[in-house]
Amino acid sequence: MSRVEDNTRDTLVELRSADDRAPHVAAAVRTSLRDFFGDAESAIARDFVVTVEDGDRPETLMVLLRRGGFVAGFGVFDADNGAETLAAVADRLQDAITEEFRVATPRCPGHPHPLSVRVIDAEPMWLCPKDNNHFACRIGEYEKPPPAP
Ligand SMILES: [Zn+2]
Repeated sequence: MSRVEDNTRDTLVELRSADDRAPHVAAAVRTSLRDFFGDAESAIARDFVVTVEDGDRPETLMVLLRRGGFVAGFGVFDADNGAETLAAVADRLQDAITEEFRVATPRCPGHPHPLSVRVIDAEPMWLCPKDNNHFACRIGEYEKPPPAP
C-alpha cells in the first residue's frame, strides 16, 4: 500500500522561481543532496529546506539553505550548462552544509577531509583533494565506502 519514497525530492527542495532554468538548478540541488545524505559517516539531519529563487539580476538564480534561523545562500550563473551548474551547486552547497552542520561531507573514504568538486571531461566529479587516484566518483553517485577494518 505504501511505497518507500525518496523524501529528498519534494520536501527538501522548493522551487520559488518561474525561471526556465530553475528546475535545472533544483535538480542539481537534489543530485548533490543525495551525496550528502549518502555519507553515513558524516550524517546530517533532514531538517532544512533548500529553495531556488530569483536573484537580484535576471541572469542569476539564488539557492538558499534554511534551517531554523540559519540561512546560507549563493547565486548560480550560467545555469544552462549541466555539468558546470551541477559542479557549482554541489561545491557551494557543500560549503553551506559544512558551515551549518560543522561536518566534512561527503567524506573522502579513508581520509579525514571532504571530497573536492572538479569538472573532468565534462563530468562533474567528487575527487580526493590530495590524490585523484585515491577516490573519484561522479556527483550524485557517492556511496558510503565499506567501513575500515
Ligand atoms: Zn582523500
